[in-house]
Amino acid sequence: MRNLIAFFACSLAISTASANDPPAAAKTAPAAPSSAKPGASKAEPVKLAALDTPKPAAPSAKAAAAQALSEADAEAELSAKIAARLALMRANQAARLAAAAKAKKASVTRREAVAAITQPPPARPIHSDTWSYEGETGPANWGKINAAWTKCGTGTRQSPIDLRDGMKVDLEQISFDYKPSGFNVVDNGHTVQVNVGGGNFLTVQNRSYELIQFHFHRPSEERVNGKGFEMVVHMLHKDPEGRLAMLAVLLERGKGNNMIQTVWNNLPLEKLDVVSPNVVLDVAEMLPQRRDYFTFMGSMTTPPCNEGVLWLVMKQPMQASPAQMALFSRMYPLNARPVQASSGRMIKESN
Ligand SMILES: [Zn+2]
Repeated sequence: MRNLIAFFACSLAISTASANDPPAAAKTAPAAPSSAKPGASKAEPVKLAALDTPKPAAPSAKAAAAQALSEADAEAELSAKIAARLALMRANQAARLAAAAKAKKASVTRREAVAAITQPPPARPIHSDTWSYEGETGPANWGKINAAWTKCGTGTRQSPIDLRDGMKVDLEQISFDYKPSGFNVVDNGHTVQVNVGGGNFLTVQNRSYELIQFHFHRPSEERVNGKGFEMVVHMLHKDPEGRLAMLAVLLERGKGNNMIQTVWNNLPLEKLDVVSPNVVLDVAEMLPQRRDYFTFMGSMTTPPCNEGVLWLVMKQPMQASPAQMALFSRMYPLNARPVQASSGRMIKESN
């Protein structure tokens, strides 16, 4: 190893000596006076060599000593130069590597910049059909998830609302023509929905609407003077022209409800599976005795939040047992859209 260093040092010295060193002076000039300390002469050999004027040759013994000293000085000087040159080479190499890395990075950045200009940005999930009641796909963002759902964000006739300051009038009675019907039950991923066989009607304002399906929310979406209820049943009706009427029956904790129990008895095991039981359902068991109600124009409470829906909210809540409530909450602990601005809408209520 030592030999290798010596060889390298020699070749380096040969290659650099002629360029910028005055080694001749150091080599030919006698070294510092003998009184000078070796350390000092080693520390500043070039300076000393440059300052000292050549002196006459000494007697042979002294000359030999001076020769040895001179060689030692030259060796030290050479070592220092080798170290300096190595340091310079290393620094140059590091600088070259850094420059190469920087150039590569700049090239990648340029490529990315060009790609950003020439390629369209990744498509936003504007046509996603995914929505939920919490988080990024929750009610506050429904209007932005799908271009067809903008009403959820910008509509001024949205449901649900807090029912307050209604105009108390002699509202006509809703006429119900419900009868035991076939049905099927589906867990659609947002609620338990019961699709009901034809022939169940309600009539209001001289218009008859047929019951299509009903489903549940927990807690109730509607509020009455700020008060929420434990659950609500929404019964969706449609007239022959496609107009929608939604009947809402609030649910509070109390006695068990037969119709709800029949539905719960036939819950599908998997989401989107449909259970079509061989029994009938009497939807009239969902109706409260008192038929007073609130009415206003609103919307569907799930995307796409279509407006133009006639809402009929029964004032008297119905009851479900704590066990029936608990069963639904195991599937859907929260599936209610928050109340929306009423935006000066007229709310009428039975006197
Ligand atoms: Zn609903």
